[in-house]
Amino acid sequence: MIALGIEGTAHTIGVGIVEDLNDKCRVLANIIKMYKPAEGGIHPRDAANHHATHLPHLVTKAIESAKIDEREIDVIAFSKGPGMGPCLRTAATAARALALYLEKPLVGVNHCVAHLEIGRGTTGCEDPVLLYVSGGNTQIIAFAKGKYRVFGETLDIGIGNCLDKLGRYLNLPFPSGPIIEKLAKRGKKYLDLPYTIKGMDVAFSGLLTSAQKYYEKGERIEDICYSVQETAFSALTEVTERAMAHVGKEEVLLGGGVASNERLREMIKKMAEERGAKFFVPEKSLCIDNGAMIAWTGLLMYRCGITTKVEDSFIDQRFRTDDVIVKWRE
Ligand code: AMP
Ligand code: MG
Repeated sequence: MIALGIEGTAHTIGVGIVEDLNDKCRVLANIIKMYKPAEGGIHPRDAANHHATHLPHLVTKAIESAKIDEREIDVIAFSKGPGMGPCLRTAATAARALALYLEKPLVGVNHCVAHLEIGRGTTGCEDPVLLYVSGGNTQIIAFAKGKYRVFGETLDIGIGNCLDKLGRYLNLPFPSGPIIEKLAKRGKKYLDLPYTIKGMDVAFSGLLTSAQKYYEKGERIEDICYSVQETAFSALTEVTERAMAHVGKEEVLLGGGVASNERLREMIKKMAEERGAKFFVPEKSLCIDNGAMIAWTGLLMYRCGITTKVEDSFIDQRFRTDDVIVKWRE
């Protein structure tokens, strides 16, 4: 079975094509194009215009590089939410048009669930706790009683957004996460920052404000980046470990753009090893927002009989992870 997926929740527009091989995901094509604002944060309408401009070409290119005939596609999947309305609507409109044109079924996919499923489909893990760390989202997710449940999440901003906002303050380009990672490697001094955990949840805006104050006081950028990473990633590692202990899972999976960070990987891996658990992370192109993860989750859903009628294919900006009934794992 072959699925084409369109991702468009925020800054990235992506088209992926995947095939199932003995229940594992084979990626045939996965192309993304990222909107980078000239200044400030993401402007939803600008991002949506960017996506609309690039989508037609991405679809053609994905089909070409997958070396398939468009009639071989069995199902069209799209990111139904959560995300920014204008971006979601652009991706959904393209998916609807494609489904009608090719006369194929349509499936609306939850973006957060897709980050987890692409990990299960490509890394060999079966029942992990997912630490999903991206620009807009930060969640600790695990499967329990038919749904992916959110065991912990950020109470304010996503960790990626925290890094990007800090980067903007330090005059670094967007996305700042990878640059902060490089600078942090040259950090020598740990600066005390708020370590905010409330129950199973985390928060980063206090840490961001404190980091900005250190900059104003003239502390070295390298030390600020180092301290931010150490503090924020420790908090994420702590809540992930607690979720693993609560639900008794022996696998941990990383997903989202911040999962590219070597220091975060190292911390989570060490925590897993100390618990006798296994650590998994998909390849980078599947960690960041991408169409292949939407295609793969759409394929799993379609295989167990789930489709979305065109007239019901509205988007959902606040689509919750635990609103999805995970029929394909029954
Ligand atoms: P996503 O929203 O999942 O596409 O991820 C994008 C986010 O990942 C942005 O906030 C980036 O700053 C962040 N990011 C990407 N690479 C890294 C990295 N190596 N370290 C930290 N953050 C990163
Ligand atoms: Mg994401």
